[in-house]
Amino acid sequence: MKLPPPFSAEAASKLQQLIATKQTPFLALDLSVIKSRYDELEGGFPTADIYYAVKANPSDEVIEMLAAAGSSFDIASTQELDKVLQFGVAAERVSYGNTIKKASAVKYFFEKGVRLYATDSEADLINLSKNAPGSKVYIRVLTDGSEGADWPLSRKFGCNPEMAVELAVMARDLGLIPYGVSFHVGSQQRDIDVWDGAIAKVKVIFERLKQDFGITLELINMGGGFPANYLQKTNEFSTYAEEISRFLKEDFGEDVPKLILEPGRSLVGDAGVIVSEVVLISRKSSTALERWVYTDVGVFNGLIETLGEAIKYHIDTDKDGEVDEVILAGPTCDSIDIMYEQHKYELPLSLEIGDHIFWYSTGAYTTSYSSIEFNGFPPLEYHIL
Ligand SMILES: *Cc1c(COP(=O)(O)O)cnc(C)c1O
Repeated sequence: MKLPPPFSAEAASKLQQLIATKQTPFLALDLSVIKSRYDELEGGFPTADIYYAVKANPSDEVIEMLAAAGSSFDIASTQELDKVLQFGVAAERVSYGNTIKKASAVKYFFEKGVRLYATDSEADLINLSKNAPGSKVYIRVLTDGSEGADWPLSRKFGCNPEMAVELAVMARDLGLIPYGVSFHVGSQQRDIDVWDGAIAKVKVIFERLKQDFGITLELINMGGGFPANYLQKTNEFSTYAEEISRFLKEDFGEDVPKLILEPGRSLVGDAGVIVSEVVLISRKSSTALERWVYTDVGVFNGLIETLGEAIKYHIDTDKDGEVDEVILAGPTCDSIDIMYEQHKYELPLSLEIGDHIFWYSTGAYTTSYSSIEFNGFPPLEYHIL
């Protein structure tokens, strides 16, 4: 079993045991990799508070380990909140980062003690003022440059800077505490300069509120966006940390505000490998050049981020030898269940039905994005290495 870095030899032998005893497909997760990514993030941004974005991988073991490591949590629903609180995380270590909230949900968060909320609209601010009175709010702004992100999160969330100023003033007038500004540059953001533009925008909002309204904001929530290791190259995390710290210094000098980071993908992505089995190999005609390789993992049970071939995972098999182009597809009766057709992966010609295909860096947005029973296939299982 060849299991490349960041996995240890011990993890490789545990994976071997799982393969011998468990049904595929499954995700194998190495918590020690998550811990080292967490430590690396803390090292790169020593003054920032880390709020893990639970949606990336909500497994109990991940939450428990990060809670013990001192992480805070970015939460989007009452269900995620319950899950995190159950591990003894104090409500002060939770931020309700979803700008789309029911009144009943806000009430629930407030009753549980959460006092930090994201917002990007008037109606949501009014909801917060009624159901979470006196709480701290940070305003999410739209960012440019989502083209550099392989899984953009823009457009749906955030408001323009002018509106952010108005919302902060309104928050104060409604008895809330206008506390800061947030942004998310898009997930798997390969263009570090996008942070520069976002931070500059935040700076303008800070200044305007101070000069025109006497409001001093204290927080920049820089969201997520740090990369995992996929086919398309990215800079090292240390380069992200150095560059972003430089951007902050350029705009804020010695008075860099309190910082929050909300990593999801970069903490858990590389810690996971999906083990799948080849169900079928076929050609569409006797002269077809490409083989279709159908695996028991697909778009509906873990690989939804392959939609539009947005995320291209490193993959491998347990076979060697001469390779040729394949189209990779999942096991269900839906024709969107094709992972890669435009991008031509090459797999060994010796690959056979029943062989394994390994999907690396699949710790993020796989188990949590699985459908419940499309065609009867269960959600992606996971095991801890
Ligand atoms: C999804 C999400 C994150 C995590 O983003 P990654 O790119 O996975 O790190 C952080 N903050 C918010 C508000 C999110 O919605």
